[in-house]
This record gives sequence, structure tokens and C-alpha cells, in this order.
Amino acid sequence: MTKADFRYQDEHPHEECGVFGLFAPGEDVARICYFGLYTLQHRGQESAGIATANCGKIYCHKKMGLVSQVFDETLLSQMKGDSAIGHVRYSTTGSSVITNAQPLVFNTNLDNFALAHNGNLVNSSALRRHLTLNSDKLVTNSDSELIGKTIANVPEKNWESKITKGLKNVHGSYSLLILTEKQLYAVRDPLGVRPLVLGRFNRGWVVSSESCALDTIGAQTIRELLPGEGIRIDESGVTQFIPPHVGGKSGFCIFEYIYFARPDSVLNKKLVYAARLEMGKQLCREHPVQADFVIPIPDSATAAAIGFAEAAGLPFYEGLIKSRYIGRTFIQPDENLRRLGVKLKFNTLPQILKDKRVIVVDDSIVRGNTTKQIVLSLRQAGVQQIHLRISSPPLRHPCYLGIDIASYDELIAHHKTILEIQRFLGVETLGYLSLKGLKKAIGKVQSGYCTGCFTGRYPLKKPSISHPANPSPDSAPKFAIVKANYYNNR
Ligand code: SF4
Repeated sequence: MTKADFRYQDEHPHEECGVFGLFAPGEDVARICYFGLYTLQHRGQESAGIATANCGKIYCHKKMGLVSQVFDETLLSQMKGDSAIGHVRYSTTGSSVITNAQPLVFNTNLDNFALAHNGNLVNSSALRRHLTLNSDKLVTNSDSELIGKTIANVPEKNWESKITKGLKNVHGSYSLLILTEKQLYAVRDPLGVRPLVLGRFNRGWVVSSESCALDTIGAQTIRELLPGEGIRIDESGVTQFIPPHVGGKSGFCIFEYIYFARPDSVLNKKLVYAARLEMGKQLCREHPVQADFVIPIPDSATAAAIGFAEAAGLPFYEGLIKSRYIGRTFIQPDENLRRLGVKLKFNTLPQILKDKRVIVVDDSIVRGNTTKQIVLSLRQAGVQQIHLRISSPPLRHPCYLGIDIASYDELIAHHKTILEIQRFLGVETLGYLSLKGLKKAIGKVQSGYCTGCFTGRYPLKKPSISHPANPSPDSAPKFAIVKANYYNNR
């Protein structure tokens, strides 16, 4: 039986990666990178790694596990350097094995470089074929290696041209950090699907997937990189070497606001917590109901539940207590043990819940199985009425831009109406936030959103189908098969 067979299947879609890097000569760069990754741990828990550049050499350490399991005091004190990049991984493309852990290190006609990537390519089949025909030996099955090899193969004599020309062949979502022996490069894909933010750290610079990691290390947020923009950081400071993409389509992942990003991060100048509060208020306006109080499914729906309660003029309580230490548990997917998994993660407060009419707020429903178990626990705790409110629209389509959202088959809202979902879950009423309401709650973002998993309309052309990285949203049966592989890896 594989590890995947034991995995507790969480109800949320999962983010795949977080990246963090800094150029700060004279600082303890590996340790600072460690703290940055620690803060980004919610973006990936399968593997972690740090690469440092020191005296013309790249050193890299990576392993399966949480950041705190991969690094210890001895290791960190040995990793010297002027700059570093780090990565936490949750596998979407490529399996969960150490060879796929990042940063990845590449040899080139110039020198070595290390690469950390957050995102998913849509032309990885073509890239893989091209590289294999050119006798390139690929050692991973991740998209990130394809990006690195493609850049490494460009025969230019300077890094800027190599990266710029290499990335012209790469299509999809990517927030990239590239560490050379003397420079740190950061690039965001032309659609700006995944976030990337620049900060100032003492006399150095730092780049991170989310601003919360800048706060943790005491860095000052300078600005978010623009879609398509590439910057170089070195002794002379920050220089833009790829101009931002203007005028074309763009698509920041709207799910970052709903679930993936930490509430204390700022995305597109909007605090995620404030966006979630507003989603809750909007949800209340769209689906008001008589009840005694509001509870969240912790932690990701807490802000939305507070917003809902405020708009409804109802008390906000905690009715479910989440174990802070369970993380992502691995258990047999047998019905009894799955129920135990939910119990391990959430315990109820019957003294608060008994005989009450309760509005339960969650951020999303993927398959519905975990939600159903939570509803059962609430009933056992004596809840009289459950009014479930979801602070996002129904998830009807999978994601091929880097998020592990299940296949069409497994998405409950793809094959059931809202009333059928309500009956399946056994709740008195069910209400989802509308897409219009969601956008209103977040406000305008400069780059525009991707809303593909709600609408089936993606900001990129449909990908080719032959590689699991490239499922086509219009090819449901085939797609379901390849996505099932991701899902089983969760
Ligand atoms: S399809 Fe959904 S999860 Fe994927 S990038 Fe678009 S909004 Fe984000």
C-alpha cells in the first residue's frame, strides 16, 4: 500500500508551493530563508529546501518533510552565503518524491544556478518531448525541471538573456526564483497567476510568495512584482530586466483570497483577512437566514464567519475546535477511520451547540465528504438546525494552473445541483457566495482574476493532454483520469 492510500483526504483544494529568497551579504541568509519558509509552510508540506550561493558555489539541502524537520541548527549554521533561495512543496505535477523537491540545481555554459518554482505549465508535454529529443536527461517529472533545463540550454552569454529567451518557450503559471553565484533573479508569469512580492531587509532584498513571510523576518514590503516582470538583485540593487506584461489577458488566482494565502498576507494591495471578512458580509446579504449564532469551520473560514455574523447582527462563537497539531494526517481511507480523521481534526462543543440553530460558514466544498462528516458531528453535538454558508461559488471545474483541485468526477458541484448537495450533506439550507459577490468583496485587482474553477473559463489556452501536467478542461473523461493521479497523491 502506498503512502497515498493512507492519506487523510482534506476537504480543501491545496496550494502547491511557496518560494522565498534573499540577497543580503553579511546576513545569516540560510537562517533567514528558513524563517521565511517556515511562514510559508501552509503553501506546501511535502518537502522543503534551501540553496545558498557562497564564494562562487551553490550549496543546496532539501528533504521530504516540514521545514522544521528538514533543517536543524547544525545544518543552518553550515550554510553560509550572500544569498539564498528556498522552497516548500506540495506536489501537483510530479509525484511526491525527493527528486522532485526544490530548489533544483542546473549546470550551464555560464555557471550553476538553483531554481525554485511555484506554478504549473500548460506546455510541459511539448517541452519534455523537445528536451528528450535533444538528449537532455530529465531526472524529475516536475514542470520546474523543464523550466530550468530550457533556460540552461539557451546558449547566451549572460543570465538576463538566458532567462528571458528560455522563458519565451515556457507557458503557464510560474513565480520563479533563480539563484546564480552572484545574483538573485525573480520572475512572474505574464498572467500573474501566482503571487510574488519584493521587500527590503536591512541592507539587502527579499522576495517571497506572500508578504506574511516578509513581516516575520522584519523586512519592509516594497511592492508586488507585476505580471510578466523580471528583476535582478545584486550588489548594485534591484534592476528590472523583463518589463511587465501590459495590455494582454491576465489572471491572478482568485482562490488565493478564498483559501490558499495566509490571512495576514497582502495580495494586490488587499489584506486577505479584510477580503475574507467582506466575503462573509456579502454572503450574509445574499443568503440571510434566521439562526441563534454563527460558527466557522476553522481556520480558513473564520474571517468570513466573523464577517457574516457582523452583517447578520448575530453572535459569533466557536462550535468546532481544531487541533493545531494534527497537520495533514495520513490514515486509511476507510469510512470509520475517515470519520476518526475528521474527529481528530475537529472536536465539537456540545454545551454551546445543543438545541441551537447554527449558521456554519466554510470557504469551499470540493468533494463534500469531510463536510458531511462535520455535519454529522454537529448533529451528534445536538445542533437543531444547520444552515451552511460557503464564502465562494460552487467549485465546478478543476484547475490546471497549479492548484490541486480534484477531477470533474470528484467535484461535487460538477455533478450535483445546490439542492442535491444540500440533501447529500444533510443540512437545512445551503448558500454559496456568487461570483459577482466574491469579486465585489475582493475589489478590483490590477491584473484581473482567474476564476476558471468556478466558470470553466481559464486565462490560458487549453493545454495539450498527453502529460498529467496538462489536463484539458474540455476533455473531461481523460482529464478525470490524469487528475485522479494528483488526487490520489493527496
Ligand atoms: S482555476 Fe481556480 S484555483 Fe486554478 S488558478 Fe484559476 S482561480 Fe486559481
